[in-house]
Amino acid sequence: MLPKTILNADLHCHSVVSDGTLTPEVLAKRAKTNGVELWALTDHDEIGGQHRAAAAARAQGLRHLTGTEISVTFAGETVHIVGLGFDPDDTALHQGLHKTRGGREQRARDMAESLAEAGIPGTFEGALKFVSNPELISRTHFARFLVESGVCRETSEVFRKYLTEGKPGYVPHRWATLHDAVSWITKARGIAVIAHPGRYKFTANEEYALFTEFKTHGGQAVEVVTGSHTRQEYVKYAGVAKEFGLAASRGSDFHSPDESYTDLGALPFLPDDLTPVWELLAERIQ
Ligand code: AMP
Ligand code: MN
Ligand code: MN
Ligand code: MN
Repeated sequence: MLPKTILNADLHCHSVVSDGTLTPEVLAKRAKTNGVELWALTDHDEIGGQHRAAAAARAQGLRHLTGTEISVTFAGETVHIVGLGFDPDDTALHQGLHKTRGGREQRARDMAESLAEAGIPGTFEGALKFVSNPELISRTHFARFLVESGVCRETSEVFRKYLTEGKPGYVPHRWATLHDAVSWITKARGIAVIAHPGRYKFTANEEYALFTEFKTHGGQAVEVVTGSHTRQEYVKYAGVAKEFGLAASRGSDFHSPDESYTDLGALPFLPDDLTPVWELLAERIQ
């Protein structure tokens, strides 16, 4: 028998409901075509696409879990917490995410003002052209406009020169607390997952605090194999998963065929000495 980790699960990607460029339906089809065997759509701070994703997965004969990716502020950094397998109609989860989305419009106006001061006018209106869900205007939409208008060649260049700490267009923002994000997910009968831990600029002590507090609040898993990690980080976070007794997740973080380096389903399997998060979610898979 194959180890239970050998499954082409892709439990992290984005649609037009947040900052992806494809619809939930097109993503489900692409996942199926790419050989994905278990799929979740994890739009930022938003679960408005979940019923569409479930229906699209069913139409493709693709196993599916509900998903989201919640923005959290921890130790002065933005951390992302993925939720999987929750009830998509849970009222408290809807309310919590609504509140988390709340400050995005003002933040976007402030970002545009900062960019205007740096000599780049019109970016709020420019970014809006790329937005499908007005509550979810994000840095990604600004990045697309800066590429379209020729300020940068590609979105990765935008994030090197703009929109990040110390650069024009950066506006600090307070997102949800770690406790709230984990509670919303677990109370909706889902599993909370630390997304792409290798991306955060934490000291070893801060990272330890993140994992410890996440566990205390009821978090149960961590992304080990993700499009955001290097091979060394797969090994590092496999060790961290074991150290903290966390299950492991796997996801591309696919946003767009034009921007994402990792396509849906195109990742190595999880190391076989880990507990895959889908083992904890067996009853929630549809
Ligand atoms: P926001 O939630 O508005 O802060 O936007 C965050 C999003 O920006 C992330 O989910 C990514 O899609 C995108 N992003 C952040 N940093 C980078 C980067 N270095 N390169 C490409 N995209 C990035
Ligand atoms: Mn994103
Ligand atoms: Mn993320
Ligand atoms: Mn993501």
